[in-house]
Parts: sequence; C-alpha cells; structure tokens
Amino acid sequence: MAALTLALSKGRILQDCLPLLAAAGLAPRGDTERLLRLPTEDPEVELLVIRPTDVPTYVEYGAADLGVVGKDILLEHGGGALYEPLDLGLARCRLAVATRRDSPLVGGGRGEATRRLRVATKYPEVTRRHFAARDEQVEIIKLYGSMELAPLVGLADLIVDLVATGNTLRANGLVELETIAESSARLVVNKAAMKMKHAAVAGLLARLARVRAHG
Ligand code: AMP
Repeated sequence: MAALTLALSKGRILQDCLPLLAAAGLAPRGDTERLLRLPTEDPEVELLVIRPTDVPTYVEYGAADLGVVGKDILLEHGGGALYEPLDLGLARCRLAVATRRDSPLVGGGRGEATRRLRVATKYPEVTRRHFAARDEQVEIIKLYGSMELAPLVGLADLIVDLVATGNTLRANGLVELETIAESSARLVVNKAAMKMKHAAVAGLLARLARVRAHG
C-alpha cells in the first residue's frame, strides 16, 4: 500500500494539476477520467479523484493524507480542521458578487426594492458571512450550477460565483459588483498525518513547492 494518499479535485483543478504532478514525479498511472483511485509513478503515493466539495471531508477524516482543492471550497467548508501549507497557484479565480448590467444595484442603489435581495449561489456560507458582515439581510438561494441564469429569469437579484476572465458574466449580460475573495488551488494536509507521517508529508510538500506555478 502507498504511504501517502493525495485527493485531487476532479475537473479544472485536476486538469491544471497534471503537468505539476508530472514535474514532481507523481504522474498518474491510469485513466484519471474513469478511475477513482490510482497509483502514480511514485510507488509511495496514490491518488484519489473526487468531487471538489468532498476533498476537505476526505482529508479531514484521514481517508486521504493530503488534498488539492480550491480556496473557494475551503472558505465554504470552513477549512479550520485542515492545514493549508501551500498555494499551488493553479485555477486562479475570484469569488464575486454580480448582477444584471441593467440592474439599479449597479450604481450602488437599491431601486424600488424594499424586500430583501435574493442572492443565488453555490456558496451559501461564504455569501451569508459576506452580507452579515455588512448588516445586510439577504435571502440566499442555493443552486448547484449555472448561477448566471438566475438574475436573467428573475430568480435572484444577485449571484455569488467564481469569475476567472469575466467572459461568462459578459456573455450573459452580467457585471461584477465586488470581489469577496481570491481563490486558487491549495494543498491541504490532514492534521494527524502531518504528525504521524511527518517525513513523508514534508517530502511531498517540498516536491510540490519546487514545481508549483508562480506569479
Ligand atoms: P470566466 O468566464 O473565465 O470568468 O469563468 C467563469 C466560469 O467558469 C463560471 O461558470 C465559473 O463557475 C467557472 N470557473 C472559473 N474559474 C473556476 C475554477 N477555478 N474552478 C471551477 N470553476 C471555475
């Protein structure tokens, strides 16, 4: 059995991570599209490929010793139970508040709206904290994808979503009002593994730190 298990977030982070893993001598041996668990070229390290939102849970419970996951997910999950020693500099984006280009909210106004604003998001905790910090009462609508649609069909006044280039917002007639947080892929470590497998974890951390994306 491999000494260390590294949980990777399926999707954008996995794709962005593959060159970095190869440079660190950890290229997967097998089909990352299909296999959920696969060895790497280093017999001491195996990979799990799982949903991004599940990575903190696997690492917290020690089912994986380490994980690679977006800061957006850690902010939503409340990553306090994990160490977060390394910013891999991949999958950079920001969590932002956006609305329709023609919304009265664009100029900072509330228009005629006396009711609570509705905010559609995949990130209810981050959203709740953001608006609570400014004493704004909002109604949060949890969605699982395509947040950009919500303001266009009157489901929500605002969205909180990931923005990278801004192209998706623009294409849907939306504008960004403010940034809540910057995000990128982070390496997280199980707290017990950091102690019990210290040499192996420190070695892997050093290898990834050497090859991580800078800038
Ligand atoms: P963009 O059009 O480049 O601003 O990208 C925005 C779209 O891509 C939105 O649908 C986001 O949810 C998604 N997105 C952007 N960056 C990331 C990321 N790092 N991880 C996952 N989804 C992302």
